[in-house]
Amino acid sequence: MERIYVDNAATTHMSEAAVKAMEKAYSVYGNPSSLHSAGREAFFMLTDARKSVAESLGCDQKEIFFTSGGSESDNWAITGAARAMLKKGKNEIISTAIEHHAVLHTLDSLAAQGFTVKILPVSPSGYVTAEQVDNAVTDKTALVSVMFANNEIGTVQPIAEIGEVCRRRGVLFHTDAVQAVGHLHIDLSSLPVDMLSLSAHKFGGPKGVGALYVRRGVSIPNLICGGAQESGHRAGTENLPGICGMAAALSESVASIDRTAAYLIPLRERLIDGLLKIRRSRLNGGRTERLPGNVSVCFEGVEGESLLLWLDAKGICASSGSACTSGSLDPSHVLLAIGLPHEIAHGSLRLSLSAENTEEQIDYIIRTVTDTVAYLRDMSPVWEKIVKDEENEK
Ligand SMILES: *Cc1c(COP(=O)(O)O)cnc(C)c1O
Repeated sequence: MERIYVDNAATTHMSEAAVKAMEKAYSVYGNPSSLHSAGREAFFMLTDARKSVAESLGCDQKEIFFTSGGSESDNWAITGAARAMLKKGKNEIISTAIEHHAVLHTLDSLAAQGFTVKILPVSPSGYVTAEQVDNAVTDKTALVSVMFANNEIGTVQPIAEIGEVCRRRGVLFHTDAVQAVGHLHIDLSSLPVDMLSLSAHKFGGPKGVGALYVRRGVSIPNLICGGAQESGHRAGTENLPGICGMAAALSESVASIDRTAAYLIPLRERLIDGLLKIRRSRLNGGRTERLPGNVSVCFEGVEGESLLLWLDAKGICASSGSACTSGSLDPSHVLLAIGLPHEIAHGSLRLSLSAENTEEQIDYIIRTVTDTVAYLRDMSPVWEKIVKDEENEK
């Protein structure tokens, strides 16, 4: 059976360019910090990768710090900014209810240490506004952290506007852009963002490597302490193959953003239209201002986990909510934040497409989900009740 992979928000398969770049880097074994020729060879490769990543994002190479991935970058940006702000007598951080757990759990730990954390609600279609941020900022606020694009419902936030508010109000602005980098145009030479997190495996690069962009002039203390790597800001011998793979995947995906989006958006729309024909289904997140490959839908009277297992048996790799919450029975905090009741949030399905998916696959997914939802509802007492209530209303 052909496998249809539509879980690209969880991770992507590596691009050929990334694999090639890594293979080349694996034969370079020197430590980039060593002064001898083997070390220099590695150092030059590292520098080239840093230049390439900076070029892809429109920033200076000195503003790119390599990390172990999106989670580390988020942790570093937020705890770093929090510790730096204490010196200025500030203790307040503003974020949103739909952030990734790498952000939300970091904020929880800061709240436990005495920081004030304000969580902004989102609209029923999954957006925050610059005005909400403006209204929440006080003279105690030192950091705003708003994700670029949501990993579950695909909504893209007004990052430029929020950044402008932060500039005007004199507060630092961090964005978790893990779902956006390589998929949406990001030009840091004009975008008013102070810190930005990215992760290689979300755009065709390897797992376990990412970067934090820190605008020149912004200073945050280290998260990982030790040697003087990354200009003394992030210790640990660099993951050179990972970094080279990330740089290659990034420049390739950035170069094809428009082409990929032009291919994906019609597929996405076809899939949404097909799935919304199912009775008592709904799309999560607004239909525009949405990642080109994201489809998130809920089916009343269906258990998301059962749906996933049935789809997997039919060759479809999808997700319910985020990869980090599946395995737990709590409904996704994102779906609750857009106002879905628990019982509906449990019946969610996320399909995140890549340019490798075809129209035939989309049609197969629509048929298979339609049949599986009908099959599961047939045995569901919850669905029976929904149908009865519907009849009583008539
Ligand atoms: C995947 C993801 C992360 C975590 O990145 P890792 O590299 O897996 O640690 C953080 N934020 C968002 C929005 C993500 O989608």
